[in-house]
Amino acid sequence: MALLVQKFGGTSVGNVQRIQAVAKRIAFSKDLGNDLVIVVSAMGHTTDELTDLAKTISSNPPQREMDMLLATGEQVSIALLSIALHKLGVPAISMTGTQVGIVTESSHGRARILEVRTERIKARLNEGQVVVVAGFQGTSQSSGGTAEITTLGRGGSDTSAVALATALSAEACEIYTDVPGVLTTDPRKVADAQLMPELSCDEMLELASLGASVLHPRAVEIARNYGVTLVVRSSWNEDPGTTLTSRPARPLGREGLELGRPVDGLELLEKQAVFGLSHVPDQPGMAATLFEALSNGGVNVDLIIQATHEENTNDITFTVSENELSNAQILCESLIATLGGKLTIQKNMTKLSISGAGIMGRPGIAANLFDTLSRAGINLRLIATSEVKVSCVIDASLGTKALRVASEAFELNDSQISLNPPIHGKGQPEVRGVAMDPDQAQLSVRKVPDKPGTAAALCAALADQGISIDAIVQSERHHPDGTRDISFMLKKEDREKADNALAPLLAQWLGAYLEDGPEITRISAVGAGMPATAGTAARMFRAIADADINIAMIATSEIRTSCVVTATAGITALQAVHSCFGLGKKSAL
Ligand code: ADP
Ligand code: ASP
Ligand code: MG
Repeated sequence: MALLVQKFGGTSVGNVQRIQAVAKRIAFSKDLGNDLVIVVSAMGHTTDELTDLAKTISSNPPQREMDMLLATGEQVSIALLSIALHKLGVPAISMTGTQVGIVTESSHGRARILEVRTERIKARLNEGQVVVVAGFQGTSQSSGGTAEITTLGRGGSDTSAVALATALSAEACEIYTDVPGVLTTDPRKVADAQLMPELSCDEMLELASLGASVLHPRAVEIARNYGVTLVVRSSWNEDPGTTLTSRPARPLGREGLELGRPVDGLELLEKQAVFGLSHVPDQPGMAATLFEALSNGGVNVDLIIQATHEENTNDITFTVSENELSNAQILCESLIATLGGKLTIQKNMTKLSISGAGIMGRPGIAANLFDTLSRAGINLRLIATSEVKVSCVIDASLGTKALRVASEAFELNDSQISLNPPIHGKGQPEVRGVAMDPDQAQLSVRKVPDKPGTAAALCAALADQGISIDAIVQSERHHPDGTRDISFMLKKEDREKADNALAPLLAQWLGAYLEDGPEITRISAVGAGMPATAGTAARMFRAIADADINIAMIATSEIRTSCVVTATAGITALQAVHSCFGLGKKSAL
């Protein structure tokens, strides 16, 4: 007999007939002898409708009242599902987040789970009851001891389910939804997306955070950290769906279930060279031509960063291992001779990276790394961020010092630190899935001082206001007064907050100002085999260029490559990238 946590999403409980169908499914699983904890979302679009209702009264309703309102959605579904189970003769009891002991932080609207007090749920399970739990909600314990209803953030029922599975040491957490599992991309946008029977939590974490809404990224983070078996399946059939593989389980710490050590690895990669190509023409196919030439010439490129600049030219920066330097230099020089542009090469560089699932959604961690390094007098030549890793390229002579200060800042021990590790991902697919995120905005800070600590100060100011950023790029070129530009992406919903967050810095940096980019969409390819495969980025850039779409920004990290395109070209670019990696049912490599 197994203890299973099963979660049914909004569409799966969208009307009474569906609730009855779900109840039958649960009854069947119970008959097989399983102990069941069922987590449900609000019916259909209830959460959206409740949000709209509040917005008709106020454009900025208090978060506490929003939580009070939104939490009602899930309460309707747990009661109805329990009634349906009773009707089938299945002993069942519905419980709110509070009743089930989900204790969260106090931040309304996006609270993280600290603990699940399982006594009450266990007692009910021991009585043979199916426990039907309201997802997406918990209770915070304020300093005065007053309990307050909190919600976990949109899509948060997945996180409730995985947290319960962790706390109860369940055999598996099964997420039942309206698609057959995790597909190579969103089937609503690309019709021939294929089911992935298996993928790693690291890959899913990137995909989920880059736009694959099928799973809440925080649910994946918990599954990864605590080794929960996570399965995504269709609510409508018996197919096995997708199983997420994770590393060995880690015991529950005292820091709080969702707050455990966010960083658990530190890596130094020596003998790197940074190539800066500035003033290359801003037109479709430039990046493709450059990286195809490098890949055909046998050069494996690591980080790639590109941001758009004025005067219709771009800067593209990338890193290669020093032993590929002369080869890469010859290839680049012959290219710029025909295409135009200016090449600068810096050798004796080192890449330092911190990794851990908890980096996602906690902008303070990247800011802490940059601040730690800048306080040690270390300048950041390049920055690359992903959901599970933050890397920066620094001067090689400061590598050991950087390693020491970073390991102290994140309290890492020797077993968590690696020096020049072998390339990860051999034998894994270079691209497993692609995702599209239309909710990003591009922002540039023009004319920032060119001195150590500038990027760190910028990240820290944004992090203090809870704003996460991606693809932070410092321009290759300088303005005549010696200043530079820094560009980055942030969530559209954080755009307004960024004005306030950055105001004090802009006041300090004489002449600096913010400039919004055009409407954009981010397209990302993710695959654990990417570091071990040459030419992945080139293929992606070529597919986008062949669709006659210009790439406005590029950002890569170890297992993902993201391209920013204009919003209107998003779906076409997604389809092109999906098919160029042979991910569709009909497409072939
Ligand atoms: P639920 O209400 O069950 O939580 P969601 O709407 O949150 O369901 O998530 C399921 C949806 O996620 C699917 O209908 C699909 O459109 C979307 N989706 C986006 N990317 C993917 C992907 N890679 N694989 C599967 N579904 C995806
Ligand atoms: N009902 C909530 C939402 O729509 C939580 C969830 O469905 O996971 O975001
Ligand atoms: Mg969902």
